Amino acid sequence: MNEHDSERIAGVLEADGLVPANGVAEADVVVLNTCCIRENADNKLYGHLGHLRSLKQARPGMQIAVAGCLAQKDRDLIVERGPGVDVVLGTHNVGRVASLLRVAAESGPVVEIWEEAALEEGELFPSALPVRRELGHAAWVTIQIGCDNSCAFCIVPAVRGAERSKPFGEVVGEVSQLAAGGVTEVCLLGQNVNSYGRDLTTALRSVGRDPASEEWLAGPAWSGPGGAGRRARPLFADLLAAVGAVAGIRRVRYTSPHPKDLRPETIEAMAATAAVCEHLHLPLQSGSDRVLASMHRGYTAARYLERMAAARAAVADLAVTTDIIVGFPGETEDDFDQTLAVVAEAAYDSAYTFIYSPRPGTEAAAREASFVASETVADRFARLKVVVDRSALARHRARVGRLEEIVVEGPSKRDPGVLSGRTRQNKVVHLPPPPGGLRAGTYATVTVTAAAPHHLSGSLVSVDASPTHKTRIPVASG
Ligand code: SAM
Ligand code: SF4
Repeated sequence: MNEHDSERIAGVLEADGLVPANGVAEADVVVLNTCCIRENADNKLYGHLGHLRSLKQARPGMQIAVAGCLAQKDRDLIVERGPGVDVVLGTHNVGRVASLLRVAAESGPVVEIWEEAALEEGELFPSALPVRRELGHAAWVTIQIGCDNSCAFCIVPAVRGAERSKPFGEVVGEVSQLAAGGVTEVCLLGQNVNSYGRDLTTALRSVGRDPASEEWLAGPAWSGPGGAGRRARPLFADLLAAVGAVAGIRRVRYTSPHPKDLRPETIEAMAATAAVCEHLHLPLQSGSDRVLASMHRGYTAARYLERMAAARAAVADLAVTTDIIVGFPGETEDDFDQTLAVVAEAAYDSAYTFIYSPRPGTEAAAREASFVASETVADRFARLKVVVDRSALARHRARVGRLEEIVVEGPSKRDPGVLSGRTRQNKVVHLPPPPGGLRAGTYATVTVTAAAPHHLSGSLVSVDASPTHKTRIPVASG
């Protein structure tokens, strides 16, 4: 979500006449788009601001803006600890970045944070703003902002507000427009995509209106996979089916579904919609039922594994990835062993692993007496990485010798002489480029030649001559 906000900020600045600089040392404007999910972002921000301040002393015309949810949370502190900052803007003020910089140039530092409650419907979702995407063929599409859950560790509800869904027809309209502009892959974004639409219907019912008779809400394809009759509200599954049916869209991804709300309809839609990629990011957080309960996650490890197994049974060749927190307050050695056991059983393709970070105002941050010692956490973190990497490597080795569809992303960031692409399972493949190279956004078939825990290597078999033709390339062995 933060990356997507950055694309919008860059788009707004570009539309205002700015061009990308080669680095901060040359830039007239530097925007730090922050995230406050974990504490080290706070620390990094003040370090970066110190460095920028010395650059600014050498070049007084340079402007510095701080955006994002950390800016929203710490607006006063940033002004206090960050002399030299010209603009502080909140997550809802992205569209104003260029005009705020102008105001600051004329009359000094400015802080602008719009609270969600004061916003009009159209201002909640930034889709009308210009965007500067890193990859021309792939786009994020925000379908939901905020979160109505109350996970004990998480600051998102406090800084991103209540859950709000973008109307069904507007999401499909945005994807159609993107496809018309050459985008072939979209990633639907929300904190809990499976509860998509719940707020829309609750709001309508509260004013005595029947959601089922609201065309703007329903959109054309609300009946869902298999053409089942109209539902009481559009489900995320219906959105997947409708977005997957947009002409020109070859790949649909989404992040994140909450395991407690992963409905059978979503799994069915994944299986039934050719464009929906065979990848499920299903955050586990912990494998201990005791810890899951104290996190207020709303599922047990067994229920999680059951849902994951249902998804694997329905969607052939499904890659599953996850998020795990190590050292949640009160986590014992036994709890952690249970996490290791679930991770081993889940056989993840990869995992984002995080050290628990107390966030101000969250329930868990007040449980200081049960914080886990940092050496214990570091040791558990290292042990978890070993188990995750082992399963990732095993999953990747099983792909060696197979044919995979990739979409080219460009030269590898580490070695510009190597081409990188991404498979439907969201795996990065490095390959030698053919003579003349391949343009980013090109679909191609490769043979997987080698595996590592975090990427695959491959060799080019053929290039897809019809990049907008929507199909699912059968994965064959040999
Ligand atoms: N909405 C998603 C869900 O419920 O699974 C998670 C979104 S959160 C922005 C991304 C990940 O950051 C979480 O899945 C969690 O693993 C991690 N995270 C959030 N708060 C954290 C904290 N206080 N300390 C460490 N990791 C945290
Ligand atoms: Fe945070 Fe939980 Fe909401 Fe995810 S579901 S954003 S972890 S509160």
